[in-house]
Amino acid sequence: MKKVFKSLLLAIGILLLVMVLKAFVFNTKPEFNSLNSPSASSKVDGSAFLRFSQALQFRTLSPSGVDDSMAIQKFQQLHHWMKINYPLLAQKATWSVINQGSLLIELPSMNKTLPAALFLGHLDVVPVEDSSNWKYPPFDGTIEKDTLWGRGALDDKNAVIALLESAEDILKTNKIPQRRILLAFGHDEEVGGNLGAAQISKYLKDNNIEIGFVNDEGFGVMEKVIPGLKNDAAIIGVAEKGYATVEISVEIKGGHSAWPKRDNTTSVLTSALNKLDETQFESRIQEPIKGLFESSAPYMDWGYRLLFSNLWITSPLVKWVLNQGDKTAATVRTTHVTTIINAGEKENVVPPKATAIVNFRLLPGDSIKNVIDWVKRTINDDRVKVRLTGNSNESSPVSPSNGLGFDELHNSVNEVFPSAVVVPGLAIVGSDCKHYIQNCDRIYRFLPYKFNSVNLTGIHGKNEHVIRADFENAVRFYTVLFGKL
Ligand SMILES: [Zn+2]
Repeated sequence: MKKVFKSLLLAIGILLLVMVLKAFVFNTKPEFNSLNSPSASSKVDGSAFLRFSQALQFRTLSPSGVDDSMAIQKFQQLHHWMKINYPLLAQKATWSVINQGSLLIELPSMNKTLPAALFLGHLDVVPVEDSSNWKYPPFDGTIEKDTLWGRGALDDKNAVIALLESAEDILKTNKIPQRRILLAFGHDEEVGGNLGAAQISKYLKDNNIEIGFVNDEGFGVMEKVIPGLKNDAAIIGVAEKGYATVEISVEIKGGHSAWPKRDNTTSVLTSALNKLDETQFESRIQEPIKGLFESSAPYMDWGYRLLFSNLWITSPLVKWVLNQGDKTAATVRTTHVTTIINAGEKENVVPPKATAIVNFRLLPGDSIKNVIDWVKRTINDDRVKVRLTGNSNESSPVSPSNGLGFDELHNSVNEVFPSAVVVPGLAIVGSDCKHYIQNCDRIYRFLPYKFNSVNLTGIHGKNEHVIRADFENAVRFYTVLFGKL
């Protein structure tokens, strides 16, 4: 017995030693290589922020359809404004209007045979429910000291304007990039991107334009989002969760509520929904979340470093920790929630039909078919009908966390945001880039802006705003990045 105990102690000792070695010896903190190139610290034209303010004054709400001429007109006015305010781009780049409201701008390049770099942005914004509780009117583009207030300041005219400013700068300095740089600005991202991004993607395909990598919104330089990491995390999204909506319905003959049957539509539906709520999809730590922890572990305090450097043994504990927060839980499993329930019209009649809508966000690796099978298996009741409804898309493939696109983004972050740690990430909400999966297998999601718990509430919420220094850093970032292409 004593012998067994001794060997057990020895085994635990060796295990601990391996964990510590892995966390501290093999996982040493890489040095930040801040190159401080002239462009990373260069001055940004003071009038750029004013142009950004003007761009926010166009009420470019997403169109309701291809015939929504009132909405389309606003986009065309914005296109016109761009050509006046970015004269070199207007003159030297190739502009294509796609489906009336979207734009594809190609910068001059030295070598057209290299696969192009495609930068996405969207010109449409979400509506404002109640402008009276905004600090400044959402479409005035008010600049107060060093802050610009307005709808679109962080989603996503900040990307569009910073890209245009950098592109104009590149043309001013006459440093023509090697590879083709394409700017693609959709006009209906907020309602799915079928009129804009999907058509631009088709245009690129039809014209045999080879895309080397895509960069879109999705993440940025995030403050305090990774447990245990004090540095900002520059998260480059390399994958995006899938989307599916399932209708669950029960039809049983109704009747008077004074003598109800034990099993009726509402009771059967409620019990089915309860089963779904009580059962969750299995949690998994897989790419890109595994890579996120492995890349950030060297910068963490020792306790977290020990935990995240040894996922081969600590993953049950890490999964438990991540499942405690709503947003972190969404990165390790397919999530679902009932968003609509419908049944009954009269208080004293048992309804003959009851339906519920359950929305799913799929982790890479779980397919829409898996989801439907899982729902049926979990409910396990023949009286309940399950079917897919509305828009759905599978989770995206996972793009590589190195090579063309990722490396250039990574190196540009090192120059412009030297204290941020670059890590790959999984986007839990979708964007236009899902439409470009057919064009390219290197799709990245990184906006060179700082995000924190304060400014994130402005996205789709009230008091959306951006700070001048953050905007100017974004312009520097794209200028540095364009210089590497
Ligand atoms: Zn957006």
